Amino acid sequence: MADVLPYTDADPSVAELLATHPHLKMDVHSGLMLEGVPLNAIADAVGTPCWVIGGNTLRSRMHRMQSAMQQAGLDVAIHYAVKANDHLAILSLLRAEGFGADIVSGGELARAIKAGMPAERIVFSGVGKTDAELEQAIGLGVGQINVESAEELDVISAIAQKLGRTATITLRVNPDVDAKTHAKITTGLAANKFGIPFHDAASLYAHAASLPGIRAVGFSTHIGSQILSTAPYRAAYARIAELVQTVRAAGQTVEVIDCGGGLGISYRNEPEGQPEALAGAIKAELGHLNVRLAIEPGRWPIGPAGVLLGSVILHKARGNEAPFLVLDTAMNDLLRPSMYDAWHGIVPLSAHEAALPAAHAHVVGPVCESGDTFARDRLLPPMQRGSRIAILDTGAYGAVMSSTYNSRPLAAEVLVDNGTWQVIRSRQTVEELWQDEIVPSHLAGTV
Ligand SMILES: *Cc1c(COP(=O)(O)O)cnc(C)c1O
Repeated sequence: MADVLPYTDADPSVAELLATHPHLKMDVHSGLMLEGVPLNAIADAVGTPCWVIGGNTLRSRMHRMQSAMQQAGLDVAIHYAVKANDHLAILSLLRAEGFGADIVSGGELARAIKAGMPAERIVFSGVGKTDAELEQAIGLGVGQINVESAEELDVISAIAQKLGRTATITLRVNPDVDAKTHAKITTGLAANKFGIPFHDAASLYAHAASLPGIRAVGFSTHIGSQILSTAPYRAAYARIAELVQTVRAAGQTVEVIDCGGGLGISYRNEPEGQPEALAGAIKAELGHLNVRLAIEPGRWPIGPAGVLLGSVILHKARGNEAPFLVLDTAMNDLLRPSMYDAWHGIVPLSAHEAALPAAHAHVVGPVCESGDTFARDRLLPPMQRGSRIAILDTGAYGAVMSSTYNSRPLAAEVLVDNGTWQVIRSRQTVEELWQDEIVPSHLAGTV
């Protein structure tokens, strides 16, 4: 359970964290660098808090997934899970590399199209798609809709008929396996809201084949996120294989199996999920079925590619007890520690500070919530007011989950690519916080 405290072993040191993050290097003079770009230079120019994504890291991790599948002899389409980081620059970069998109809302669909993603490379997942979203998706001709219930199948059939189109669908099957991950990111248990119960899937597939406006091509599954071993994948895929045999024996055709996402990364010192091992699980359980395969990774390719830069506003001493380091970044920027008890590596940008002996500190944000805590009792090099830090592995489920709670403007975002960097989202201004608010005229004073 990678995301769950408490840990019994010692926190990894700065050197140990850098060893598992090859795109980050500590330079004696420039300090922490990402893909060769000094993060201090970015913080000097843009300020903090600021998200930084390494484009080459993202590219090479996507290509590693692709070659792992190819080397296993598998025909696998890769649809990046847009919800992990939906920035148009990220989607454009992935489109240029030939990857597709897995989307869960009309907003994500619009983003993928805006980034130039061909509709046929888009897969629409999600437990509650509205009629408007389905009309948009079917109208645009998305490649595949993953259907999560019998009720939704009927709605899609009706909308497709109304539009005079045929919707290509798979049934998302809930295989009832435990992904052994954090409760808030487990999706493949019968108790979860996701997917069609395994025992209903074969009959619903037969029903789908009889529905007008529907072309049922196979099955999909997605059992959760931050999965670090192949056992839950194998268990899920074995059940899908069983289902394929059942429906084929009943005379139905199955052309596609969408294997979902969820491969985990190393936030602390857990060994990260290996695409080669995932490919092995897919090959072992599904390789003989003569189907087109797909995966939907989000966290694995982009999580490690990103850092969140912050500055220490105050070093709040507490006698003999661990001090509070109060940062200028907070839970409104990075929600994962508050929401999932997530552990994120914290590294000073200064090589001098990074080399000092570590001591325990609590790292917190300024938001008026006790949950606004990035780390408790963390072994860290000593830092002072004005020191800068990078919070690691924030490329996925980072900026996308930000809010403006406490009227804190959204942070700037930067893309490092091919040795240079560029702002890809300017820091939100305070005026932008209220630009869509309307004060009724009888209340208007100085506003
Ligand atoms: C969130 C999600 C993914 C991606 O999960 P990761 O853990 O980020 O790889 C893939 N497919 C579906 C249906 C999802 O909801």
